[in-house]
Amino acid sequence: MTIYIDAHDDLHVEYQGIALTCPHCQTLAHLSPVAVPRFEDLNARRPKHAGVGFHCDACFEPVFLKFPVRAFTTDRVELSGNYIEIERARETFPLTYLPEEAESLFKEALSCYAAGCFNAFGSMSRRTAQSLFRELGERGKLELFDTLQEIRALAALDDETFGIMRAVLFGSDSDPWPNQPALNAEGAGVLVEVMRDLLYQTFVRKARLLQAMTFRRFVVPSASETNA
Ligand SMILES: [Zn+2]
Repeated sequence: MTIYIDAHDDLHVEYQGIALTCPHCQTLAHLSPVAVPRFEDLNARRPKHAGVGFHCDACFEPVFLKFPVRAFTTDRVELSGNYIEIERARETFPLTYLPEEAESLFKEALSCYAAGCFNAFGSMSRRTAQSLFRELGERGKLELFDTLQEIRALAALDDETFGIMRAVLFGSDSDPWPNQPALNAEGAGVLVEVMRDLLYQTFVRKARLLQAMTFRRFVVPSASETNA
């Protein structure tokens, strides 16, 4: 992808333009540049990065990207396609059914993930799990482990990935160093999905079932009405 700013301060993006998952409307949308740094200023100061303000074509909200500068020439400033998203799309989770402490810890975990801090995400996921173990007791912990085993089978996780997930969530802080495996973008992506399913199975599904059952009992017609 060739990206450059010309001498008239216009941003040129070849081929498809820039499309990403918008941090505001969560759709995969194209971006249109609205604030491009001046060619003259860039050439005079020669920074390592150039920041460009866009709007999302779907929702019109602002999106900011930072591009490494590849080269300064007489008629263009060439930018690298490896841009950095200043604000990444957030994962959506139904968190309202979680115990309060776990909810606030996991919200921070998701902020780490959105910021691309994958090991911080891993650490906060472990703290979320520790809070849940405290809340649910030893039996609850075993049930959570069973759910993780189910996820392993359903999602066909390989041994290595499963080992990492188990160590992150069920490992102990007193384990020999390093007591937590390092997480890269891929591992963190798997952990997001594991957490989503784990929390859904443990809390959301149960809460929704209970809600639905209460509703059924409430609206069920009495026997005399059914017979009439
Ligand atoms: Zn949008």
